[in-house]
Order: sequence, then structure tokens, then C-alpha cells
Amino acid sequence: MSRARLLEAEPRALAEAAEILRAGGLVAFPTETVYGLGADATSDAAVAALYAAKRRPAHNPLIVHVAGRAAVEPLARLDGRAERLAARFWPGPLTLVLPRRADAPLSRHATAGLATVAVRVPAHPVALALLEAVRLPIVAPSANRSGRVSPTTARDVALDLGEVIDLVLDAGPCPVGVESTVVDLSEPDRPVLLRPGGVPRAALEEVLGPLAEPSADEERPRSPGRLASHYAPSLPVRLDALEVEPDEALLAFGDRVPRGAFATFNLSPSGDLAEAARRLYALLRAADRSGAKRIAVVPIPAEGLGEAIRDRLRRAAAPRPTRESAG
Ligand code: AMP
Ligand code: MG
Repeated sequence: MSRARLLEAEPRALAEAAEILRAGGLVAFPTETVYGLGADATSDAAVAALYAAKRRPAHNPLIVHVAGRAAVEPLARLDGRAERLAARFWPGPLTLVLPRRADAPLSRHATAGLATVAVRVPAHPVALALLEAVRLPIVAPSANRSGRVSPTTARDVALDLGEVIDLVLDAGPCPVGVESTVVDLSEPDRPVLLRPGGVPRAALEEVLGPLAEPSADEERPRSPGRLASHYAPSLPVRLDALEVEPDEALLAFGDRVPRGAFATFNLSPSGDLAEAARRLYALLRAADRSGAKRIAVVPIPAEGLGEAIRDRLRRAAAPRPTRESAG
């Protein structure tokens, strides 16, 4: 069991969390997507401690979280497209990859030495209150060991990282449940969808027009997790299952519930993709603990939040690296 201090996210706990962050410590806190592990983005030592706690490869850059559009100004340059997306989707589950200002007060480790920086304004009231209190840009990747299933409850954070972080702020389950959508705007004419997430592609394309797919060389340095094993439970995962074996835990969706599983978990009995996203990681963890030999997942529709769910499941099912090499 973990030794993490878990505090309900009320004003005193928030003030303490802000103090820990300002002193270079690590605090896990809720965002609308998943629980993040926060560190001072301006401090080399704090960011190094964060990579070490997550055992995250140093070449996988972090998302910088700020309390509002104005706080992005010293960090990155926003063009017209970025301004339109920020006005429409911030605060919210959208990360923009932008040209980094040369004099940005950010640790080089936070951006893995790149000339760009990924930024986002989260919509969760606790995340916003913490960012306002701390008055620093905060890097906050998912609060789990690199490559494993992301946490959507404070308890899941404590189980995975309790030994190595100072405090977990608890505000119940995360309302979106999958990570932010990452859009690369660092090239003038070619917006790239680096990672599907909480803002569906169609909503972005209403503002930007068609989004490009990352090219092969973009995938390596810029989004290391894209095809590698990531979001991985302990058990192997089998996708697009139309029938199920008696030793398998089943992740079902709507009325797609093949009979005969060892245990069945329905992502959304009513077939609602937003509910399925919200429950995805908790049910992957439950399936992992069920005593089954494998996890089978029924086909998930690709529209709306389904694109992000399918992306996460594909990586959960990807061949596992022998050493930690996922992002
Ligand atoms: P997470 O692990 O959820 O914090 O995800 C961060 C994602 O943003 C990863 O896929 C990173 O590769 C991506 N990312 C962060 N910074 C950059 C950047 N400067 N350029 C491209 N992708 C980035
Ligand atoms: Mg993560």
C-alpha cells in the first residue's frame, strides 16, 4: 500500500499544495481529463524529479498548464489559429503545440530541448484554483508510472505513485476521463492532430479545417507514445472482440455484450461515448484485477470521443517493450 497523503481538495489543502509546488515538490491534482502529477515548469530540479517519479523517458516532452490565456504570453507565440482555438476551447481538454519563446521561463527538460512548447488551460475548478494560487506554469503529465493506465481517481494515483509524491488532492472522479487532444500548430499551414483526446476532431475541424496526420518522423520525436505500448494494464488486451473466451475479462459497450466472459464491465450500457471515456481507465484497471487471463474489448465506434478511446485501447493492446520505453 501507499504512503501518499491524500487530502480532500478544500482551500487549506490547495494552499499547501501550492506551497509544495513552489518549493519544487510534486503534487497530484485532478483535471477534467485525468489526474495530473504537477511540478514547477520553470525549475530544472522539479522537472527532473517528476521524470524520475514517473520513470518517464527524458525525450518525451511535457504539457505546461497555466491558469488562463494571458499566462501563455511569456511562454509561446500564438498565431490567429491558436487564438481562435484558445478562445473557443480554453479552459478545456485541448493542448496546443506552439513555437516556444526564446526567453520563455521554462526548464529545458520540460520541452525535451524542442523549439516548441505544449500548453493547455485545464477546465477543472481544482486545477484552475491551484494554478491561480501557485502563479507558476506547471507541467502535469498523467499521475502514473510511464506507460501504465492513467488514473481518474485519487486512489488510483496513490496506488501507483504514492511512495514518490508529496500530496494527492482528491476531488472525485475526472469528468472527461481521457487525456487532452494535442494539436501541433508549430507549422504555419499544416495543423496536425498529434493525439486524439477530450475535444473531438470534428469540433476542431469546424475552426481549423481538416487536420493532418503526423508524418512518420513527427511521430518519433514529437509524440513518442503514438504507436508504442502505452496506457497498458498488466494483462494482454485483445481488440474488436465479437465473441469472448471464458478466461477473458470483457469490456463491453452498449448492447455489444458477447456472453460467456470471466467478468464483464460495460463502458456505457446506454452506448454513450462520453460515459465510456469517463469510465475507460477505471474499468481497464478493474478488468486487470478481475483474475482473468486477458482483456477482450468489443468494437468501439470511431466518432466523437470514440476516436480517443480507440487510440488509447490500441496502445494498451500494442506489443509491450521489454524495457520501459513508452512515453
Ligand atoms: P502526457 O504524457 O499526457 O503528458 O502527454 C503529453 C503529450 O504531448 C505527449 O504525447 C507528448 O509527446 C506531447 N507533447 C508535449 N510537448 C510537445 C511538443 N513540444 N511537441 C510535440 N508534442 C508534444
Ligand atoms: Mg500519460
